[in-house]
Amino acid sequence: MKLKHRTSCPVCESTHFTAFMEGTVDPGTLRTEDFKITDNRYGSLWTFQQCDDCSFVFSNPCLHEDAVLEFYSQLEDNEYSDEAEGRGKNFKTILKRMAKIQTPDSTLLDIGAASGIFLNEALHSGYDVTGLEPSEFLVKEAKRLYGLDILQGTIEDLDENLSFSTVTCLDIIEHLVEPDAFMSRVANMIKPGGLLVIVTPDIGSIASRLAGKHWWHYRIAHINFFNTRSLERLLGKHGFDIIKKNRYTWNFSAFYLATRIFPSINNKKSLQKILKKINFKLQLFDSWEIYARKKN
Ligand SMILES: [Zn+2]
Repeated sequence: MKLKHRTSCPVCESTHFTAFMEGTVDPGTLRTEDFKITDNRYGSLWTFQQCDDCSFVFSNPCLHEDAVLEFYSQLEDNEYSDEAEGRGKNFKTILKRMAKIQTPDSTLLDIGAASGIFLNEALHSGYDVTGLEPSEFLVKEAKRLYGLDILQGTIEDLDENLSFSTVTCLDIIEHLVEPDAFMSRVANMIKPGGLLVIVTPDIGSIASRLAGKHWWHYRIAHINFFNTRSLERLLGKHGFDIIKKNRYTWNFSAFYLATRIFPSINNKKSLQKILKKINFKLQLFDSWEIYARKKN
């Protein structure tokens, strides 16, 4: 697979950056499965560099956008919906926080909607929802599970003249080759005064620093990482003010957690049944949940 060599930071365009971490990914062996949301082969990481100016951490060399899109459009992830209950709880917390800022009868676009777990919760909270998801399989899953009509594609496929009161990007921006171009497009689709919600791993977190190369967010699908400074830079550049920041809380079943550590549990059906009934709430202080308002 051909990679692209960056000569400037994908967030602030600075040409000054330094080595951050040596990678282990072999681009020649990449397959669609490597991009699964539930991928549990942690420790596969790209060679990362960090911008001296905005501190954004980006893979360099990096994949071409069309190659990434190809992987996501073919992606099938049967395990993702297994954790619908836990993920639904994560998302209900976000919707409660959103309701304190925005009236829930507004229009909402969820980018990278996966199987529609969040979109379904948002619909039931009163939002007029639109979802975008590149994977044909996950779009069909959303229809099968919730009767949702999610559009297959990326923000590039959406009519530029559409605008929404709220846009949500939950665990999306760390997957993007060009986050700046993406945010520019998002900014054009949010009404003045509208709300942008982002969830993304925080590479500046204590968890990331302590875990080093073993940080659980290092996986093939994560090609870039933000911290507070680079997020503020990106959002500020596109006319957003951060109005609230929370640490994202994870709700897991014991099954999900156990398969992260012992993938072989996937083959033990009786143990699975028990583990799926035990639920955890975990605060790892490792990800940001950002609420930002588009300037008038
Ligand atoms: Zn930069």
